[in-house]
Parts: sequence; structure tokens; C-alpha cells
Amino acid sequence: MRYKYIFFDLDHTLWDYHANSTLALIQVYNKYKLNSNFSSVDEFIAIYNRYNDELWDAYRQGNIKKEVLRYKRFDLTFREKGIIDTELPVIIGDLYLEITPRLNTLFPNTIEILDYLAPRGYELYILTNGFLKTQETKMENAHIDKYFKHIFSSEELGINKPHKDFFHWAVSSIHARKKECLMIGDDENIDVGGAKDYGIDAIWFNPGNDEISDRALKTISDLSELKELL
Ligand SMILES: [Mg+2]
Repeated sequence: MRYKYIFFDLDHTLWDYHANSTLALIQVYNKYKLNSNFSSVDEFIAIYNRYNDELWDAYRQGNIKKEVLRYKRFDLTFREKGIIDTELPVIIGDLYLEITPRLNTLFPNTIEILDYLAPRGYELYILTNGFLKTQETKMENAHIDKYFKHIFSSEELGINKPHKDFFHWAVSSIHARKKECLMIGDDENIDVGGAKDYGIDAIWFNPGNDEISDRALKTISDLSELKELL
């Protein structure tokens, strides 16, 4: 057996971020009766997603702080529809972050592949750029926490994937050799590129389209394809 340590990214790889975020936004929309301001829940979600993506880019570039991002995405969404309110975006921003990690939609075959890997002697780890407490809540609610030996979160180290130091931290903490490790993630730069630059093999999980990665050992569109390799 070549690989012994399997590193999974969490968001958009095992935990279906998009599906869970959409469900949380629907709850927020209904609770605050936003139908008086938006033509439909789809419109609300579309505007929110647009600002959320823009603000995440700004966050990744170090231009805004996470505490600002969490309410600003709602503030801008509301302003576009003429709602000017200093408190509402903060209240809703907090509510959204409270609801979302409790939702538990996983990508198809997540449990199946974890059930397949665990008894075969692989050690499973999560390598995430998310907040530790949030990620723990998501994993507990989705009943996948039991499969993993440890969560390596960038919040704890203060350095994000794709930085080499992040991967080095994980590999050295578990006393692994690079060639025994395999990274699986949905982000071609952060997960695949980061792992590859550090010197460990990676699988690109790309369920959205037919694109393949040159840097990945293999590109998969369904988690069950990992069985062919492991
Ligand atoms: Mg991800």
C-alpha cells in the first residue's frame, strides 16, 4: 500500500457548502420575511452570492477582515434593494453562521468512501482553511467526525493552504513521510497546487465540469472513484 495518510479538504469536498449555504439563506429569508423586499428567495440568494464571492476575494487578498465579511455580505445585499439598516445585517450575519454549520448535506458517497477507507488501515485527516470550531460542528452534525484522527485548521496555525508551511505542519505533526500522504480537495490551486508544491500527491475533486488538472495525480467527479486508487 503506497499511501497511508489521507488528507481531505472539508468545504466543497465532503461537506456540500453550496447546498448547506442555500438552505441557511432560505431559513434567514423566511424568518425575516424578506419577501417584502426581494422578488423571490432566488433573487435574494443570487445577490448575496455575488457579494459573498467579491468579499471572499477581498478577504483572501487581505483587504478585509472576517468579522467585516460576515455582516457586509448581507449589508450590501440589503442596500441593493433599498434596505438601509445598521443592525439587521449583523443579526442576520450571526444567524447565518449559527445555522449553516448545523446543516449536514454531504457530497454523494462521502459516507460510503469513509466507510471504505477506515477499515483498510488508512489514517484520515482534515486539512482546512476554515475555523476549527465551525468545522468541528459541521463534522459532528454530518456524523463524519468519527472517521478522522485530527483536524488541521489554518486558524490554529495562522497560515493557510496553499502555503508549504501548512502542509509541513500536518505531515510533521503525524510523523508521516511525504510519499505516504495523499491530499484530496476541490480547489485546484489551494489543495492540489499547495500539496504538489510541497511534494505530496493530490487528487482534484471536480464534480462541476469535465476540466482536469495537470498537477493532480487524478481528477475525479465522484468520491467513490477513490476506490480505484486506494
Ligand atoms: Mg474546499
